[in-house]
Amino acid sequence: MIKLNNKLFKPYLKEEQILAAIKKMAAEIAEDYKDETPLFVGVLNGAFMFVADFLKAYQHPCQVSFVRLSSYQGLTSTGIVETLLDVQEDMEGKSVIILEDVVDTGRTLKQLVHLFSQTNVKEFKIAALFYKSEIYNGEYTIDYVGLEIPDNFIVGYGLDYNEMGRNLREVYQLNQADMINLVLFGKPGAGKGTQAGFLKEKYNLKHISTGDVFRYNIKNGTELGNLAKSYIDKGDLVPDEVTIDMLKDEVEKNPEASGFIFDGFPRTAAQAEALDNFLESKDMKVNATIALEADDEVLIARLLERGKSSGRSDDQDESKIRNRFDEYNEKTAPLKAYYEKQGKFHSVNGIGDIAEITERLGKVIDALD
Ligand code: AMP
Repeated sequence: MIKLNNKLFKPYLKEEQILAAIKKMAAEIAEDYKDETPLFVGVLNGAFMFVADFLKAYQHPCQVSFVRLSSYQGLTSTGIVETLLDVQEDMEGKSVIILEDVVDTGRTLKQLVHLFSQTNVKEFKIAALFYKSEIYNGEYTIDYVGLEIPDNFIVGYGLDYNEMGRNLREVYQLNQADMINLVLFGKPGAGKGTQAGFLKEKYNLKHISTGDVFRYNIKNGTELGNLAKSYIDKGDLVPDEVTIDMLKDEVEKNPEASGFIFDGFPRTAAQAEALDNFLESKDMKVNATIALEADDEVLIARLLERGKSSGRSDDQDESKIRNRFDEYNEKTAPLKAYYEKQGKFHSVNGIGDIAEITERLGKVIDALD
């Protein structure tokens, strides 16, 4: 385990594995280009080590240059790609092969494709040492791949975390073992949002409320908001595909989190399975599911009261509230068995003083191993 800027990283890929992948790539590219003189363009800063080792393995006529782009800030992909330096060489009629250290969402790649589509190169190919195929959503197919890797944050071998770790000879990945991921379970009005607000401070967790994310999108008139609105207004559940993708995006946006509180998710068996698979692919897991139990009649009174001040239309009409309970009983309540089978289900009395309930939840969390 190594520490960079206060985060722990564990060994992931050995130097030999990386060099073997590069050798294989060099052989594949040589097969296609050894009879011409291609121009290799390394993407700075991350690709400097890859380019050096690649060229040592590619012993045929070639030229080399660099381009500098940047889209990462800390551990999150900011979505902003800046070109800091254009390729200087005259590229007319040349076969250009981009050497990219890691391709993830494909945002940087899009910028590169754009950059080179405006030149008069003969051919344009992409070679990625590491490829996160699970999260790649670009249109351009990657021509040469060194290693396909899952979507974990990695450092070393040219890659950095806040500029640290580039000189490591091996690749390390962010250690997720200390994370606490909680699912807060309970009918509408059970107090999940209120309690999540306290728990996130106490345990330094990121709170994701799918209901809040939907309401934020509705307020801002996004495509997602418009889609979800009709379901939410009636008290129906939003379709799984939409909700699952949205949840994944929210988690992806917070790679630095030391854990998550999932509030209002999962609500169906398909969502619970999708959450398990998604977390597993990131070397994470649900540590506990805690249900806040309360009586229907108490909840209805609470929701109608909340509706007066929150303005939420689904809180103002008893028939919509009852429909949300029906949805819960039919689709969400069966998840109790799903988590019980995994030994992760805990139940807490959700009636009483707010601070008292926080304490009950804390006892469950502190007892987790
Ligand atoms: P909440 O704020 O959690 O009560 O959610 C309000 C509404 O958002 C729900 O009644 C659903 O229409 C929608 N919603 C929130 N989370 C989910 C989910 N996990 N699956 C489907 N619909 C959801």
